[in-house]
Amino acid sequence: MKVVIIGASHGGLQAALTLKKLNSQTEVVLIEKRSEISFVSSGIVLRMNQLVDELDKVRYLTLEELASKNIEVLLNTAVTTINPEQKTIIYEDTSKKTYEVNYDKLILATGSNQFSTNLTLPSKDKVTVFKSYLSSVEVLEKLEKAQAVSIIGGGYIGVELCDALRGQGKEINLIESADSVLFRYLDNEISSLIKQKIIDSGVKLHLGESVIGFSDTEEELFTTKTTNEEIKNDYVIVAVNARPDTTLVKDFLDLNTNGTVRVNEYMQTSDADIYALGDVISYPVRNSYRKSFIPLVNNVVRSATVAAMNVLGHTLKYNMTQKTTATKIFNNYVASTGLTAVEAKFEGLEVESIFLTLPCQLPYLELQEEVHIKMVFEKGTHKLIGGQLMSEKDITQSINTLSLAIDKETTLEELVTMDFYFNPGINQPMGIISRAAYEFLIGKYKA
Ligand SMILES: Cc1cc2nc3c(=O)[nH]c(=O)nc-3n(C[C@H](O)[C@H](O)[C@H](O)COP(=O)(O)OP(=O)(O)OC[C@H]3O[C@@H](n4cnc5c(N)ncnc54)[C@H](O)[C@@H]3O)c2cc1C
Repeated sequence: MKVVIIGASHGGLQAALTLKKLNSQTEVVLIEKRSEISFVSSGIVLRMNQLVDELDKVRYLTLEELASKNIEVLLNTAVTTINPEQKTIIYEDTSKKTYEVNYDKLILATGSNQFSTNLTLPSKDKVTVFKSYLSSVEVLEKLEKAQAVSIIGGGYIGVELCDALRGQGKEINLIESADSVLFRYLDNEISSLIKQKIIDSGVKLHLGESVIGFSDTEEELFTTKTTNEEIKNDYVIVAVNARPDTTLVKDFLDLNTNGTVRVNEYMQTSDADIYALGDVISYPVRNSYRKSFIPLVNNVVRSATVAAMNVLGHTLKYNMTQKTTATKIFNNYVASTGLTAVEAKFEGLEVESIFLTLPCQLPYLELQEEVHIKMVFEKGTHKLIGGQLMSEKDITQSINTLSLAIDKETTLEELVTMDFYFNPGINQPMGIISRAAYEFLIGKYKA
């Protein structure tokens, strides 16, 4: 069997490796228009936070490792056409010379592009995005020199950048059209704590403001116009509006209304010999009636595994997503899973929630940390719908516990009585998840 994969980022790589692990005889051809593989897009933040000494090191797989597994990788090679009837693709190299190759199964892993806007933009020397290694090298260099940086978008990318840039004597403006940061993942209780940390760090936060254009763009210090203000800056990062890249298939594959490629639960498209995965598709969200475009690597690697298994005839269905995320910003771990209370209402769910600040350790220990926890339950069934955590302590594994609990439709009562460990040097007799559920339950029955 010959499988051609278009796109060698997280999704394409995971699919290629899985195909080879399952059957080393499978012929796997991985085609990538970039000149390198396996760069992690948040590399800039890792470098600025000095977690790595070189941007080029933010990778987890080499070409040699792929070659040792007999995976053929064509870099600097852009697929220009897919001929689904003939089961061939046409690709071109950097000299524009074209080649044709046939496939038995095709995997589309073309991902997303981060930029889509109706605004007229100045040159990318002034306003830009980053995702690939080469764009990240350029942006890192510019950010180091820039004195007044505006960041458009208060999602994870924007807030992580603010955190990484603080304390360098630069003027930083963070512009977000919603009225809170990280609103896709956090309700107001935790998001307002982060908002305060952003403000305390000296970042100028513009909530409820949209960028409407740029002016004086020939000047070094040019203007970003928002619905409220005119901000002088010498560099602007756009951290919004990722869009699926369906250029190659939009004329012959079924698409969803949000522009993603339509797939079934086996990652098969409307053409039975073409599979799609990663950022180019939408995902079923637990407790939501809709499939949504959710560009997260956890969705990417799972859909890639499902696609590879089914390509080789091993039935595996995609599970839902809880859009589980975690980050470390402003010296705090912040994590989220499932629906926020606000989102749940949009989905037509009647929910109730609890927000608590709990101590992590028993009082005799020198190290005392606390955790902010929010849990959202469906009214009536008491099913867990969503969870959010924030702490200086690394509580990120607890968000995976909450994700599993949502996935398994665990109830408030089950969370109170669930078997979680206790160790007197580490935690409280009742762990944070059980404790928050317990307080909520007691609150319900209190006379
Ligand atoms: C700055 C930033 C930080 C992020 N941080 C996180 C994070 O911390 N955690 C997380 O879960 N997610 C994060 N994400 C999202 C994550 O990067 C994406 O979900 C992920 O990259 C999608 O993987 P993919 O394989 O589907 O596609 P992509 O990574 O978009 O890659 C698609 C690949 O296909 C190639 N391609 C496209 N068309 C062609 C063609 N015609 N011919 C040949 N090759 C082609 C492209 O060159 C590209 O390499 C971040 C995104 C950004 C931009």
